[in-house]
Amino acid sequence: MPIYEYTCNSCGHKFEVLRKFEERDNPIECPSCKSSDTRREMSAFGTAKGSGSFGWSGTCGSPGSSRFG
Ligand SMILES: [Zn+2]
Repeated sequence: MPIYEYTCNSCGHKFEVLRKFEERDNPIECPSCKSSDTRREMSAFGTAKGSGSFGWSGTCGSPGSSRFG
């Protein structure tokens, strides 16, 4: 089973969970504060590649969507 990363919207705690693929979007409880207000992070598959001539400067900051529902 793959590992998925979740972030708690309530306390900001990040945690990883080993889940089935088909359960990856199921609600899950934060182990820290027991809130079910969590979201799944986009897991980066294949980050082992160390080379690359892209223009990544290491700063994070994704323009675009910031939705709060
Ligand atoms: Zn939490």
